Amino acid sequence: MTAFRIPFFKPSIAEDDIAAVAETLRSGWLTSGPNVKALEEELAAYCGAKHVNAVNSCTAAMHLALRAWGIGPGDEVITTPYTFSATATVIVHIGATPVLADVCDGDANIDPEQIERAITPRTKAIIPVHFAGEPCDMDAIMEIAKRRGLKVLEDAAHAVGSAYRGRAIGSIGDATAFSFYATKNMTTGEGGALATDDSELSDRVRVLTLHGMTKDAWNRYDVGGSWRYDVGEFGFKDNLTDLAAALGRRQLQKLDLFTERRTRVAQRYFAHLRNEEHLQLPAFSEENRHAWHLFMVRVKPSSPVGRDDVIRKLAERGIQTSVHFIPIHYHSAYKRLGYWKQGDFPVAEGIFEGAISLPMYPDMTDAEVDEVCGALLEIVGGE
Ligand SMILES: *Cc1c(COP(=O)(O)O)cnc(C)c1O
Repeated sequence: MTAFRIPFFKPSIAEDDIAAVAETLRSGWLTSGPNVKALEEELAAYCGAKHVNAVNSCTAAMHLALRAWGIGPGDEVITTPYTFSATATVIVHIGATPVLADVCDGDANIDPEQIERAITPRTKAIIPVHFAGEPCDMDAIMEIAKRRGLKVLEDAAHAVGSAYRGRAIGSIGDATAFSFYATKNMTTGEGGALATDDSELSDRVRVLTLHGMTKDAWNRYDVGGSWRYDVGEFGFKDNLTDLAAALGRRQLQKLDLFTERRTRVAQRYFAHLRNEEHLQLPAFSEENRHAWHLFMVRVKPSSPVGRDDVIRKLAERGIQTSVHFIPIHYHSAYKRLGYWKQGDFPVAEGIFEGAISLPMYPDMTDAEVDEVCGALLEIVGGE
């Protein structure tokens, strides 16, 4: 494997992050403990939620929220075809039926009108995904949900640090799931969190996160804590470790700085690429705060060089890219469900045809952005 000169992503891990993890190792407390509790409190304050449950992935956070709400067989949950498979897979895992609603062409976010059309008497919840870090139209989505009595679970895997019309993502829907996966805007290696104002939901998720036990591990081993615990229901093993949380706390402190740097990279991409007729740049609203998890351009059908060839030619020049996302209904496991066929979500499918995610990370230099743009312009210009 040859390394790319300009990778798609580089994590920003500094000495203070390493020191925080080392200190946790020395403390002797490795699993969920004081750092997890502190991360939960700090993230709740950051995103304006009353409660945060730290867990070991965004996938787990979404799965636990849907279960805690008692959604299951016979129920439907609406989400977008333009997302990572986990968003739809958690719906399948709770035994409910995933229903897809097509996206808006500009920002690839779920279209509220399509949500409305997809609602049936069985619909219980909506999972909007803030694609690339640009918030969905949450006023419209919350209005629909309220009117139709549905829960809103935001998949904010790209959107920690985003804000919708002045409101932090994490403070709007009934619950919001964040990801701290290695490539996300802040990382704990693997990790995630669920933010909510609903104390009942948070309490229930806490029990389900750790085997369905009525007491948390840290109470169990505290002086004065009891060895006695009860498994009240069949839970999961989705808790975050204190090692991960120690890293997460450092990352959260630097998140605004990371977002600022990502924004500068995005602005530089716009400055270089905005006049290229064969590229479509991401749409976003000035009213929102965009976390710029991704910078996705679209190679227009008019381009003399197609998307796949653009990716290959960039790779030949040492520039790594990615594609977000292969629509849900294109994956074999989802095809086998037999619910959808190609053509059902024309907007999502059209976006996917041209999609390329360009390198994007906080430490990306101006020279690196310039090089990516120079190469891209040459390639789509047919040079
Ligand atoms: C990364 C991602 C997830 C899954 O996050 P994990 O923390 O890896 O479970 C879910 N949804 C979207 C949109 C993602 O990009």
